[in-house]
Amino acid sequence: MMDRRLFLGAGFAGATALTFSSVLSQTTPNLGAPVLPTPGFRKMKLGTMEIIALNDGALRRPLGEEFVRNAPLEQVKAMLASQSLPTDYVDIPFTAFLVVSGENRFLIDTGFADNGPPTTGRLRTNLAAAGYKPEDINHVILSHYHGDHINGLRAKDGSLVFPRAKVHVPAPEHAFWMDDARMNAAPPAMQGGFQAVRRVLGGLPAEQLVRFEPGAELAPGITSSAAFGHTPGMSVFTVRSEGQLFMYVADVTNVPSLFARSPDWAVAFDMDAEMARQTRRRVFDMLVKEKTVAGGFHFPFPAFGTMEAAGNGYQFKPMA
Ligand SMILES: [Zn+2]
Repeated sequence: MMDRRLFLGAGFAGATALTFSSVLSQTTPNLGAPVLPTPGFRKMKLGTMEIIALNDGALRRPLGEEFVRNAPLEQVKAMLASQSLPTDYVDIPFTAFLVVSGENRFLIDTGFADNGPPTTGRLRTNLAAAGYKPEDINHVILSHYHGDHINGLRAKDGSLVFPRAKVHVPAPEHAFWMDDARMNAAPPAMQGGFQAVRRVLGGLPAEQLVRFEPGAELAPGITSSAAFGHTPGMSVFTVRSEGQLFMYVADVTNVPSLFARSPDWAVAFDMDAEMARQTRRRVFDMLVKEKTVAGGFHFPFPAFGTMEAAGNGYQFKPMA
C-alpha cells in the first residue's frame, strides 16, 4: 500500500485528484469551440521595458458540480448569468507573458506547445506575430508545475521549444513534484501530473535549470513572491521599471468571473484550497490598494488590467 501519510504530510491534504488531463477528457465537442483572440498578442510599455501578453489558446469546459468545490452549481451558474456569461460551460483561456528588458527576454509560463487539445498551442505563432523567434527567449520563468504552464517548454517529440533559455523555477515547487516518494504515494489520478513534470524538466541540462527561493530577485526589475496554495510552491512575479509596476499573478485565481468575484470559492485545481483562498485575498487586496496592473494566466484576453473591489470580492477590468 502507498504511504498516504507521506503524501498528506506535505500540508496539501486537500490535494485534488482532478488533474488537467481529467479536465480534457471531460471536454465534449457539442458545446462549440472557444473564440480565440486575433491577434493573439498584446504589447504594453512598462518604463523602459515591454510586457507582451501571448495567448496559447483556450479550452471550453462543460460546467459541472466538480469545478467549484465548495459552492452549489446553481450559485455558480447564477454568478455567471449575472455577468451575462453562458452557464453550461466555462471558457478557460491560457495566456503567458513575455517581459522584454533590452536584450533579455523573459517568458513567464509556457502553455501547451503541441501537447494539448486542438484549441491550444498558439503561443509560438503569437510570439512570431509579436516579432520574436523561440531562439530569442533567453529566460523562461515557471510559476508552478501544472501542465498548462510547463508543457510548452518541450514539444511532443522531446525537443526544447526555447533551446537557448535558462529555466527559472520555484525551489519548493520543484522539490515537491520531483520527489519520487511523494509521487509514489500520490493518488493514481495525480500520477500523470508528476510524470508530466519529469517529461518536461527531467532531462534539462543542470546548467539550464535555475532554482529560486520565492522572494528572490530573478533579474534586475523582476522579483518573485510566494503565492502558495494553488500548488505547494506557486510564485508570482513583480516587474518594475522607472517606477511602473506589473504583477503576474499566475493562478492566484482561475477565471476571474468566478474566483475573483467570489474569492472564497475553490477551483478544482487548488491543491490546498484554504491556503489558496488566503493567498488570493492577500494578493488581490494589494492589487486593489496599489492599483497595480496585473496579468493572469486564465484572465480574459488581453489578460492584463486592474483589479477593483466588488461586493465580497474583486472585479477584473481588462485593459482596453
Ligand atoms: Zn493554470
